[in-house]
Amino acid sequence: MSEYPLPDAFRRSCEERMGAVEAARLWAALDTLSPVSIRYNPYKSTQPTGGRQVPWSRYGYYLEDRPSFTLDPLFHGGAYYVQEASSMFIEQLYRTLFAEAEAPRVLDLCAAPGGKTTLLSSLVGADGLVVANEVIRARALTLADNVRKWGIGNVVVTNNDPAHLGAYEHFFDLILVDAPCSGEGMFRKTPEARNEWSPEAVKLCAARDRRILSDVWAALRPGGVLIFSTCTFNEEENEGTVRWLIETYGAEPVEVVCDPAWGVECGQVAEVPTFRFYPHRVEGEGFFAAALRKSEGRCRERVPKPRKSLFTEPNKAERMELARWVGQPDWMQFARVGDSFYAYYRAAFPAVRQLAEGLSVVASGVLCGGLYGGKLKPEHPLAMFHDLAAGVTPRADLTLEEALDYLRKKETDPSLLQEGINLVTYEGLPLGWIKRIGRRCNNLYPMGLRIAHL
Ligand code: SAM
Repeated sequence: MSEYPLPDAFRRSCEERMGAVEAARLWAALDTLSPVSIRYNPYKSTQPTGGRQVPWSRYGYYLEDRPSFTLDPLFHGGAYYVQEASSMFIEQLYRTLFAEAEAPRVLDLCAAPGGKTTLLSSLVGADGLVVANEVIRARALTLADNVRKWGIGNVVVTNNDPAHLGAYEHFFDLILVDAPCSGEGMFRKTPEARNEWSPEAVKLCAARDRRILSDVWAALRPGGVLIFSTCTFNEEENEGTVRWLIETYGAEPVEVVCDPAWGVECGQVAEVPTFRFYPHRVEGEGFFAAALRKSEGRCRERVPKPRKSLFTEPNKAERMELARWVGQPDWMQFARVGDSFYAYYRAAFPAVRQLAEGLSVVASGVLCGGLYGGKLKPEHPLAMFHDLAAGVTPRADLTLEEALDYLRKKETDPSLLQEGINLVTYEGLPLGWIKRIGRRCNNLYPMGLRIAHL
């Protein structure tokens, strides 16, 4: 770790905030190994009955060591997401603020690579919607890959500036701003972050957070909830921004349940609850979160004028063909964009349409594929969809080595397959499509997702 000493100014700010003894405990913890945790996909996997659960997450579990996730086909099939435990606290906030059946419209504004997006997607249900936005294009593409792999079908991934989302006035019930920050909470997991830190960076991040929040505040409906989170410890970016929200917008407190046994430092800024995760007190990385409510008032939802008309309705024969491929076709609205057909949960489709007509959408709903001679040629996201209908194509359940070869886009033994399109599975979990034509196999796993070097 000596290659990356803790900056002196960071040490001073810790001592001022926590006192010398606590600060020394924190620094010692920053030189230990990070715990490893994963979060199961409740739509795809049966989670273990044993193992140590992350206390604030129904689906989060600690692992005793760090396996090679790349060499686990279940990881590629979206059975779980590798996420550090403190961030899973968003689930606790969500569950205390929204009822099980509430199905809110959620904006995850700074979403890549998708840890909190996949968590929210698991929570809002088929009638809810998560808009996962990422301003940096390359990161938005990674986010879209992770969302498709998660496969719940209730997410729209956008690549926009926060202000473009702010133009959807009073549109969202919940906005999560997981802000780009000075990253003090990552000093253990990513020691290089220590060299990038400076008091000036803290100031710049605090100012940027406020710009981002002011750009998007209008999109929150009156009475809606804003969760602001960072992976840093300092007060300037954290409590300072919460105070600024209260003073600028009159944001109000919400009540959140947090068990004292968890070791989370629970604080308040003018009665707004705040939660700070220190790695010497909780089994997780550094994290901060606060939840605030926009005051009640008249809700006047307004969306930008559509820039384009995107969707057309499939005809009856097309709808019938598409319906064969999903488990609950009555829940789905099928839509055509160019030559591709998509499936959306019916309840969220009007909102998806409004978003798609005004924003830069990278992925949305479930891309089913194209129709050729009335028959669907399925695309990869349909294989990843948790509610892919059983029995539409033959399935080939592969062994570990065979599954890894498939994921590397290596040859598959044709005798394992039936003629035509097959669904490749591992321990029953779909991984993708493959087509057998006589003695030849066409591996349809997306090139960009393949396991390249192992
Ligand atoms: N929520 C993500 C997760 O759980 O996987 C992590 C988000 S990371 C802490 C912050 C994100 O904000 C980064 O993906 C970064 O590209 C994005 N970002 C950077 N500058 C931004 C800006 N000016 N406005 C909005 N987002 C920004």
